[in-house]
Amino acid sequence: MSGADEYSVLFEPVKIGPVTARNRFYQVPHCNGLGHLRPQAEAAMRAMKAEGGWAVVSTQEAEIHPTSDLSPYSENRIWDDQDIPALRLITNSIHEKGSLAAIQLAHNGHHAQNHLTRAPLLAPSELVLQTPYPKQARAMDKADIREFRKWHRAAARRSREAGFDIVYVYAGHHMTLPHHFLLPQFNDRTDEYGGSLENRVRLTRELLEETKEEVGDDCAIALRFAVDEMLGSEGMQAQEEGRAVVELLAELPDLWDVNVADWSNDSATTRFEPRDGFQTTYIEFVKQVTSKPVVGVGRLTSPDLMASLVRKGILDFIGAARPSIADPFLPNKIREDRIEEIRECIGCNICVSSDSLGVPIRCTQNPTMGEEWRRKWHPEIIERRVNEEAALVVGSGPAGLECAMQLARRGYEVTLAEAKHEFGGRVMQEAALTGLSAWKRVTDHRIYDLQQRGNVQLFTDSRLSASEVIELGMPNVFVATGAKWRRDGRGKSAFHGAPIGLGSQIFTPDDIVAGVMPQDGPIVVYDDDQAYLGGVLADHLAQVGREVVFVTPASIVSPFTELTLEQTKVQRSLLEKGVRLNLSQTLAGVAPGQATLQCVYTGRENSIECSSVVLVTQRMRETTLYDELCGLTASPLKTLELIGDAANPGLIADAVYSGHMAARNFERNADDIDREFFRREVISLESA
Ligand code: ADP
Ligand code: SF4
Repeated sequence: MSGADEYSVLFEPVKIGPVTARNRFYQVPHCNGLGHLRPQAEAAMRAMKAEGGWAVVSTQEAEIHPTSDLSPYSENRIWDDQDIPALRLITNSIHEKGSLAAIQLAHNGHHAQNHLTRAPLLAPSELVLQTPYPKQARAMDKADIREFRKWHRAAARRSREAGFDIVYVYAGHHMTLPHHFLLPQFNDRTDEYGGSLENRVRLTRELLEETKEEVGDDCAIALRFAVDEMLGSEGMQAQEEGRAVVELLAELPDLWDVNVADWSNDSATTRFEPRDGFQTTYIEFVKQVTSKPVVGVGRLTSPDLMASLVRKGILDFIGAARPSIADPFLPNKIREDRIEEIRECIGCNICVSSDSLGVPIRCTQNPTMGEEWRRKWHPEIIERRVNEEAALVVGSGPAGLECAMQLARRGYEVTLAEAKHEFGGRVMQEAALTGLSAWKRVTDHRIYDLQQRGNVQLFTDSRLSASEVIELGMPNVFVATGAKWRRDGRGKSAFHGAPIGLGSQIFTPDDIVAGVMPQDGPIVVYDDDQAYLGGVLADHLAQVGREVVFVTPASIVSPFTELTLEQTKVQRSLLEKGVRLNLSQTLAGVAPGQATLQCVYTGRENSIECSSVVLVTQRMRETTLYDELCGLTASPLKTLELIGDAANPGLIADAVYSGHMAARNFERNADDIDREFFRREVISLESA
């Protein structure tokens, strides 16, 4: 069987109620930080998925009423008819590319905070917000429930007017009223909406029936339902009430979109859930209970796994959020037998972090994500070269690799030189640490692509000096030499570093990843970076059997990982491995055999015994080569550009983006670049 035959099952059309999807690839609803504030960008981003072959493309949550206001996060909004044009922009753009458009109607109950609208918060029972903001939701009375059902019905009608083909009832992620009513942890009512499962499911049933009545002749009705809360016997479980809900509602929706709750479990990172298809064991029962089509997720990136899930009768649709973000053209690449070209999601949740920050989506693997409209970037198409012929890229971390790959795709003769014995820079170093092996895909994808091209020369073991760069005779040079971790303790909490006594054993993350291990005895990991690497290193050292003391000025471990939905798992992992936590402590000094810590609040000091200290504080840009090249008198270079961590230390996603940007802008007019920083969606001054 050729690749295309093997996967032909994935390209069969599937009927969903009154509409038909052209194949089995289904982009499930996912946030993107564009939403109602950036409708053009939202439309262009969703259209790219449709162009890439996803037969169904969904919006993110669409707030149905001002009592479900998710501000400052920019989701979709369908409060009244004023919202229809922006939503129509999305459906038109998806339809133009031949796909179906789905809308995820949402009332977020006490998951909404209503900061913009200052509307009362609604919930099945008296509940407090999960965030620190001191607000409570009131238990909805019967009139509230009737009102809510009317709002949902009106939103369904508007969805049809806006051109949607599939309309969701959303009972998932612990995020919406139907889900809150379903779960005893949120619902202690004693009326017909509480108590027995039949009562708790009543609201979802009513919404399904009413949505069907309102728009069911034209639109398919989907139910997004979390079959398992991943809380064991403390919560709803797939084999117990989760299954019972599907049995009770089996034939009511036209489509079941099933997953696990909460969001951190549904969008688990590879660090804590490395298996592709990790949700299968929870959702595989659904098709045995309903005759309606089923879509499921679980970081599905392998075409073999996808085809087998369909053949085994587990799924009708291959659902994806993150795999469709990392590669909007995944379906087309499978259909065209270009599987090696798929940019596989690495499961890092940097995409999620953008939503957590309320800014446009970004992706480590796909630097064009979120840039489709404002920069007109296409993930598969890039402008051909203009006049120049050759370019040299120095350094093969994420920035150098991406820059070299895009320059090669533009048609330049590209030489990539790497000092080390392997390509990949920091990606390969970090991927060697506990839980991060999937990150290697950032390197693998780019090296594979570069190796396929006749216009690329790749060199390892080639540390270049300025004179060697000039001798190579290439007029255009991109310097991607990265950054190194500091050894002096300078960081967020200590501008002047920490006093380090003679003979102290000091290590940096660069040492650990290079295999240089501290001597026996307790190791202090001092994390003033407060992102992810300090926590990963502590986990890694504990995993290989070392005694670890984790010290950080932050009040929790790795606060950045709250944005990637991992923080609880990170801290739990360290505690379970016996890592001792010293939170809210700065490093006041290091001497042989001991470290002095200082409380960030009281200034009180205490000393702890340790054999060595690993400093995860701040990075120093590696600009020696760049500085030397800049300093040349009568330089023959036409282009000299510093990119990636050497220009601005940040995330791997930032380095990839920087490399991509440099390759796109090469030979563009500098004035154009300045003028067109990016297109903005300017607020209309018309009052409605
Ligand atoms: P980034 O994240 O910006 O891509 P990395 O730190 O991951 O940066 O990668 C930088 C790479 O550049 C490393 O692999 C390093 O070995 C390489 N490098 C640094 N200096 C030179 C040099 N003078 N010649 C060739 N390679 C270099
Ligand atoms: Fe996957 Fe990371 Fe991209 Fe999100 S940011 S889609 S998790 S590679």
